[in-house]
Amino acid sequence: MQVAKQPGTGRNSARVAAVPALHVAMGEGDRDLLDALPIAAAVVGLNSRGVLKLSDRNKKFDDVIQTIGDPAMMAGDFRDCTQFQIARLMESFLADFEAPSELEFSLGDGVGAIHYRIKLAPLARDPKWGPRCLVSMVDRTIEVQAETALRAEMLRDSLTGLPNRLAFCEMIESAESGPGDLVGSDGLVRPWGHAVLIVDMLRFSRINESMGGLFGDELLITFARRLISALRSGDRLARTGGNEFGIIVALRKGMDDAMRAADRIQDVMTAPFKLSDLEIRVECAIGLAMMQPDQDPEELFRNAQFAVKQAKAAGTPQVYQPEEASQARRRFSIETELRRALEKDELKLFYQPLINLQSGKVSGFEALARWTHEDRGEISPTEFIPVAEESGLILTLGRWAMDKAAQTLAGWDQHNGAPIDAYVAVNLSAIQVARDNIAAMVEDTLRSSGLTGHRLTLELTESSIVQDPGRAQRVFEALKALDATVAMDDFGTGYSSLAYLQRLPIDVLKIDRSFVTGMMVDPDSVAIVRAVLSLADALGMSTTAEGIETVELATTLATLGCASGQGYYFAKPLEAEAALDYWTCRQLGADK
Ligand code: C2E
Ligand code: MG
Ligand code: MG
Repeated sequence: MQVAKQPGTGRNSARVAAVPALHVAMGEGDRDLLDALPIAAAVVGLNSRGVLKLSDRNKKFDDVIQTIGDPAMMAGDFRDCTQFQIARLMESFLADFEAPSELEFSLGDGVGAIHYRIKLAPLARDPKWGPRCLVSMVDRTIEVQAETALRAEMLRDSLTGLPNRLAFCEMIESAESGPGDLVGSDGLVRPWGHAVLIVDMLRFSRINESMGGLFGDELLITFARRLISALRSGDRLARTGGNEFGIIVALRKGMDDAMRAADRIQDVMTAPFKLSDLEIRVECAIGLAMMQPDQDPEELFRNAQFAVKQAKAAGTPQVYQPEEASQARRRFSIETELRRALEKDELKLFYQPLINLQSGKVSGFEALARWTHEDRGEISPTEFIPVAEESGLILTLGRWAMDKAAQTLAGWDQHNGAPIDAYVAVNLSAIQVARDNIAAMVEDTLRSSGLTGHRLTLELTESSIVQDPGRAQRVFEALKALDATVAMDDFGTGYSSLAYLQRLPIDVLKIDRSFVTGMMVDPDSVAIVRAVLSLADALGMSTTAEGIETVELATTLATLGCASGQGYYFAKPLEAEAALDYWTCRQLGADK
């Protein structure tokens, strides 16, 4: 066999030149060359009448043809063979050598199937023939069987025998998406489609840890069986994670079908599980997502998982809501961007005056973080502080706020030529109290700014105490030892336990804005404010009212004996320079 050098003639000549390596010269009687090949091979061409004919073949090719059992092939006539796709492949290749030259084909079904790969390579032109090619047939049966077995293994969960996550996504892909229209037996058109349910077995890792892996396995198998018992025909179950199962539910009447499936699942889980002489109750969280046309299966799966998270928090099955997911995504991107903003020192600290309600003078300023995002604009601390708390960034933010506030106050003192008669109040999150060394941080701040402890107020919330009262007590006492003031922020909205009020060294109660705002319209709010004021009085604490927006509120609170107040009526949070100007003006009694 040699590689042909001369280009062919006729309509294939240009194409032949494009595949020279395969362009093999074979003439009639090249049977020896064919027999030397280790695979089934034959030469096929178009005869002078343009009919597809087999011109030569080796013994192995004969054997394959026998196996296929096609009479036309046996007679060397490929044109009319039962495997018509082979004939089409050859014809199109002989017409254009750049046409596809490979084909996989199978005979029979299931385990008895045989699989071949057919390959075509162009041959040099023979004077008696039109274009010809070499056909080889490779038996791939064993390879395909191995691939099929491996694939089945890859798609199966070995413990329960159910499809696994990979298979589940394939199942989603092949399920008909909705919503579409379905004409029922009553002639009515109804929307239909599929929904994905994710069922998460709660407390599984704890059960597994305490009872052992074998017990856990048995539980999973029993759980899966119960899930199967809750399904209707057409619904499909998979194990998509350790303690997570996915179900594709066919919707015949709409999303209600999926909700009913969730109810049935919860019903079958109510009876206790009896395993190895033990009885345990298992609960599950169920998230649902409706399949949308052209939706990526992974995305749908993630949506259902997101709904599971919501279900865990809500305690009932939840349907995926895109708005909630987009809020969660916003929180997530805010976290990333906040980290960057803190690194680049892009946050600012504003100062809101705290007014002595008797004298009208500024007694201090509350430091409040401000963040103007370059694309999103102003982001409220009520949005980014919870994100910072959740992500742990509050530790960095808190230290930054403490340092910045102290530096600003020291700067004001310097500008004034003497310490100004005001303090600065810094907010401390419960997370900081739980995780940071607050006392050491405050001590560092005092040292580096040169301020004395009484110039600093720390505003803590009731949640700082509830988590770990012992730790809170130590932190409060350490702050007192540094001569700092401790204020209880948003008082009345948290746990308001009288026991800790009595035990902890708290100097100031800050009455939450919600009560102050309500005072003008709601007698209950007035009663609460009065009660807080007398409680503070009895415990020897001072009071600050938040959110004073009108002169009436300012006067009423002053009359009731509230020591100081803060609110838009006096001033909104101001930049450092404006805050100092405000202090100066009020000192001089300019706005009286
Ligand atoms: P907060 O400590 O209770 O601060 C008082 C909030 O009430 C501030 O909201 C302030 O701008 C607002 N406010 C004051 N007077 C009025 C008024 O008359 N009307 C109305 N509508 N609002 C008034 P802001 O600045 O949005 O801060 C919200 C919360 O974010 C703060 O509540 C505080 O809990 C937290 N926060 C702000 N900065 C920091 C910080 O640096 N560290 C920590 N841990 N938390 C901070
Ligand atoms: Mg505060
Ligand atoms: Mg507050």
